[in-house]
Amino acid sequence: MYTLILNRKGQHTYSYEYAIGLFYFAHRLEQLGLPFRFCESPFQVGNDEVACFSNLISDPSIFNVNVPRIIVGGMGAHARVITSTHDVLQIVGASTNITKENIEHDTGLITKALLPSDVEVPIIPTSIQKNLRTIQLNCGSGCFYNKCLFCDRSKPKLTNPELVALNICEIFKRYHLSVQISVDGPNWEYLHSIASELIRLQPVHGNVLWACSARAIDTANYDNLRFLVESGLNSVGVGIEYLCDDVLRTINKGITVRDVLRTLHNTMELDLYLHFCLIDFDPFVTKSDKEIHYTNLYKILNSKHSKLSMSISTLLSNPELDRALADNRRKE
Ligand code: SF4
Repeated sequence: MYTLILNRKGQHTYSYEYAIGLFYFAHRLEQLGLPFRFCESPFQVGNDEVACFSNLISDPSIFNVNVPRIIVGGMGAHARVITSTHDVLQIVGASTNITKENIEHDTGLITKALLPSDVEVPIIPTSIQKNLRTIQLNCGSGCFYNKCLFCDRSKPKLTNPELVALNICEIFKRYHLSVQISVDGPNWEYLHSIASELIRLQPVHGNVLWACSARAIDTANYDNLRFLVESGLNSVGVGIEYLCDDVLRTINKGITVRDVLRTLHNTMELDLYLHFCLIDFDPFVTKSDKEIHYTNLYKILNSKHSKLSMSISTLLSNPELDRALADNRRKE
């Protein structure tokens, strides 16, 4: 029996609501005819069962369960080696690439192709389904733009848009929840291809709901955004970082405050849920840049957008960024 442990303890889990990778792994177990069950805690695993953890867990003490074998895997995985006194199989990559032989016999780190090669529909326990608003779909990682000085994203590695669209349809058919594609920096062509395919599939699969990240420069275009909405997009996450053009230029963000305000306006018009991601640049920018930022932030907060949320993260420093911010500060 493969016992999938829902425990989410770990530093990497703060931004994830649940261990989605395990649910995709469950799908693979089902496809391969391997028996599995879910449980809440490592202490509920039987002595002869294989304990399966999400790779998001970072506290190694959790692996001290009394079982013959451990499998660690799932979306959000990092190829860091996990050491334990047990036999550990660590899987990094999409579940569709894992064979029965891998699951039953292999140990060590398996890093097969990261991207799914077929449709994957997660198996999510009913107790968790009722708490979900969206279901995350691994369609790859990286960023097409790839120029922001504070960001270490690599060039994108993405599943083809036709497979992503089909996967969105299959997940939506099963759960009737919006499907959030995982990639951080998709470009407009990629989003457009997914949306076109979803529209093409509508006569067969019906209407779906989906969500994505996008750049403010793209969402500032009303017609483009409306096309995504026609395909079922109901939520978009946009990195705006700081609401001052000088700072945006300094960090090489490639957008302006005007783009952000247009995005706000367009998503309001289209009744689209909007999530803005900000970074706390306050300690590193001039007083006047800070004033501009807060003036614009109040403008946004005072807008009548009824489906708006925001999150603020800490700045990740690096030498190039530090130099650029220092130069920007010197201008005052
Ligand atoms: S657009 Fe977003 S994902 Fe791409 S480099 Fe900038 S911050 Fe990173």
